[in-house]
Amino acid sequence: MEKIIEGVCQFRQNVFEKKKALFEGLRDHQEPKVLFITCSDSRVDPSLITQSDPGELFVLRNAGQIIPPHGAESGVGQEATIDYAIHHLGVQHIVLCGHTDCGALKALLQSPTAGMAHTSALSKWLYFAESTKQIADDLLQKAGCCEHDHDLSHGYQGDEAYTFENLDKVKTDAIFMKITQTHVKMQLQHLKTIPSVARAFASGTVKIHGWVYCLHSGEVWLMDEVHDKFNLV
Ligand SMILES: [Zn+2]
Repeated sequence: MEKIIEGVCQFRQNVFEKKKALFEGLRDHQEPKVLFITCSDSRVDPSLITQSDPGELFVLRNAGQIIPPHGAESGVGQEATIDYAIHHLGVQHIVLCGHTDCGALKALLQSPTAGMAHTSALSKWLYFAESTKQIADDLLQKAGCCEHDHDLSHGYQGDEAYTFENLDKVKTDAIFMKITQTHVKMQLQHLKTIPSVARAFASGTVKIHGWVYCLHSGEVWLMDEVHDKFNLV
């Protein structure tokens, strides 16, 4: 914590002073053009990876950048933030950015199968990404990663649900990249069920973008919805 407090002092004395005009201009209003939705992961820094200044990104973060579909009680907080960005701030773009090595996605893959009890807050939250899990299960089984058939009579297998020992790292990384991309696509579908987003997207006032950020390379891959693929920026 001392390091963080020291950082606060350094920010005020050095960074804030240097950018004083910028912060003065943001004193009583903001006009971000982009709503940036991403994971809470400490390694993903929206301002850093987009080289944006304060005031440029309106940011929504949660575990796994999951957007519950409209109507889900647990999605009220996410939806309120998104509504505010569209109606009050007038953002023109929504970026939903997933990332490699996502802890929420890993937990999702090891979570109880649909139909089983979701008791913890995390498992209830991850259940909103069940569509990702169902597709990922098929991808993993196809690649020979799955040890178990997920027959409920076997019970929840915890961390032993999948094994990757029979795959090399390149193949494992490729599968996880595919799952991460799938997850972004699924959450974008949920996003479009939110009335304010659906309306703004249909009228062309808001454009929607799916991204995947690679922790190890700094690369960002952009979703090309027309060709159903991701392209390197
Ligand atoms: Zn994550």
